[in-house]
Amino acid sequence: MTFAQTAHAEPMPARAAWPAMKLGFKGLCPACGEGKIFRSFLKVNDCCPACGEELHHHRADDAPPYFTILVVAHIIGAAMLWVEERNDALDIWIHVMLWPTLTLALVFLLLPKFKGALVAYQWALRMHGFETVPPKAPSLAKPQDAAK
Ligand SMILES: [Zn+2]
Repeated sequence: MTFAQTAHAEPMPARAAWPAMKLGFKGLCPACGEGKIFRSFLKVNDCCPACGEELHHHRADDAPPYFTILVVAHIIGAAMLWVEERNDALDIWIHVMLWPTLTLALVFLLLPKFKGALVAYQWALRMHGFETVPPKAPSLAKPQDAAK
């Protein structure tokens, strides 16, 4: 018996990356699509509050800021050139107020979306610790039932 046979006796079911990434982009759990992936602005929930899927295995690291900078820089850079070409008599104070504000707004909008999509991508490809997580059935017990 080889190592590969002992390590993965049964192949894990494949997960579709694009649907998972779309859910992650919306901030939803890639497994069930109902629970929130974040517990705060950029903090990923340890487990999905709806289905209990473990999400703490992600290693997003520097990738979400990298993709955010890549996209925002191209949008803002192109917009700055476009506005300057259309109206080169625009006061400098307008540029000083407009471009940093738009840049920050886009960064705060896109950074959690890219991070959610990246965590979902890692989940779909069973990267890092996601490959060892056994599939879980959604819990049928509701928290308010336990209190009664
Ligand atoms: Zn879930």
